[in-house]
Amino acid sequence: MSTVQRNMSLTGEPPKTINTQQKIASAIGLLGLTILVLAIFNVDFPNKSLWLTASLTAIAAGTIWFSIAAYANKHEGIKNDGIYFKSLTSKGFWAWILGIGLTLFYVLLYWFPQYLGLSGNGNNTGLVALFDPLSQFISGNPASQWFVYGTLYTLAILAFGIKFLMKYRHSRYQRLRTFSVMFFQLGFAFLIPELMSRLNSETFSLPYYDLKNIWPLNHYNFEQYRVDAFISAGNIGVGLLIFGVASILIITPILTYKYGKRWYCSWVCGCGGLAETAGDPFRHLSDKRVVAWKIERWVVHSVLVFVVVMTTAVIYSYLGDDTSKYWFTKNTFLISVTVLLTAIFLWIWIYKREELKTDAKIGAVGYFVIIIALITLHYSTGNKLFLFDAETLRSSYGFLIGAVFSGVIGVGFYPIFGNRVWCRFGCPMAAILGIQQRLFSKFRITTNGGQCISCGNCSTHCEMGIDVRAYAQKGENIVRASCVGCGICSAVCPRGVLKLENGPLENRINPNEVLLGNDVDLMQYVNK
Ligand code: SF4
Ligand code: SF4
Repeated sequence: MSTVQRNMSLTGEPPKTINTQQKIASAIGLLGLTILVLAIFNVDFPNKSLWLTASLTAIAAGTIWFSIAAYANKHEGIKNDGIYFKSLTSKGFWAWILGIGLTLFYVLLYWFPQYLGLSGNGNNTGLVALFDPLSQFISGNPASQWFVYGTLYTLAILAFGIKFLMKYRHSRYQRLRTFSVMFFQLGFAFLIPELMSRLNSETFSLPYYDLKNIWPLNHYNFEQYRVDAFISAGNIGVGLLIFGVASILIITPILTYKYGKRWYCSWVCGCGGLAETAGDPFRHLSDKRVVAWKIERWVVHSVLVFVVVMTTAVIYSYLGDDTSKYWFTKNTFLISVTVLLTAIFLWIWIYKREELKTDAKIGAVGYFVIIIALITLHYSTGNKLFLFDAETLRSSYGFLIGAVFSGVIGVGFYPIFGNRVWCRFGCPMAAILGIQQRLFSKFRITTNGGQCISCGNCSTHCEMGIDVRAYAQKGENIVRASCVGCGICSAVCPRGVLKLENGPLENRINPNEVLLGNDVDLMQYVNK
């Protein structure tokens, strides 16, 4: 029978994977997890508050103790040793078990919540019922499958956030941004929306709103039922609606100009928060091949086009067309979208054409033509919007992108494809921020090429699959649309080559200033 040879060491046995304290801590964490699994199988826990507290405490305590046992007695600095020896972090048996387990959980969560115990009438059973006391305490309502998910998601970011803080404690940047994602997840994504729902009454009702979730990430934000709810909630609701629009058109462009997309992807966003904390042990699994880079650009920008078309269709479907009643009619809206897209396109075409690679130019033209064609088709067909019904577009997007891509593949496959598959290949918010980061932002990673020893740590640990070393060897600035500014390349570099900086736009992209071996014919100088 063949066995996998994991010992790559030339000098002896591979390092021990975990020590005794880590084993005890893992057992405690797994005990906490077992309570949740038993609840899924409808084991009826008599005192739910007590058992839920025991479960969540055991999971958090086990994770934190594990981290202390792993890092507290080590020197500050890079601690990614042994990742290719461990089954869990090198696509081995345990990686597949974890991937399948997470995927099954997502399938239940999205499509079969009744198996988690959700009941429409508030008499929950199983896992969802176990969370009822906590939900009642925070929002005054029985738990839903989304409350269960939100609680576990937040717990994962907090507990693994502490692990991350210990692991990268030598880097101030890593400490600050980890506190930031922990704060935004706990406050903005979990507590504030739950507390807001406490304000709801017979006469006042705000929709669930995670304030840091910006369109197109929350692709549902401008659906009719939400817009109606915002408007009927009076000034607070209208204020939130205006905040939603301002986040897209004002806040995001300004912050991305000043700091690059990292302000969102690595400091605020919940998807990024989970990827950076719980997903950190899997960051080296990102695909570094050029073909992956090509696929990434096509897929993520296609998702962006899809979400723009879908949102336009959805908003268009509920707007009125009687100009005597409304100033913002269907036609006004379509014209506004067309003008905005045309302005962005023309600006890129006139001022940034030289900076774009050929395929990006073709992509921009192609997508622009598609949108114009769709709008034209709309005018010619009348009843159907963009060839499809708006609701069909919305539900397809929600299923394919919102559930399958972001949840099942994005998180379920962390141990197989790496921790940023969703952010890299699927997130339309990352696509918008990436376009701006590439074209109009002060952010870049500078490289002190002379110091680089080509060890490849940076490329290995770049979760977005960027070959950082290739830039470092040439002393070239890294200005890539996909870079989320996590700063791990810089944190793991043993030579201090890489620095995340904000500076003037001029000469930010500097490939021509780089002297490559092939650029000079040394024989010319020898023969002189
Ligand atoms: S290039 Fe560096 S900062 Fe950018 S995503 Fe990769 S590791 Fe993070
Ligand atoms: S930039 Fe640093 S981490 Fe990357 S190859 Fe060079 S020395 Fe190694």
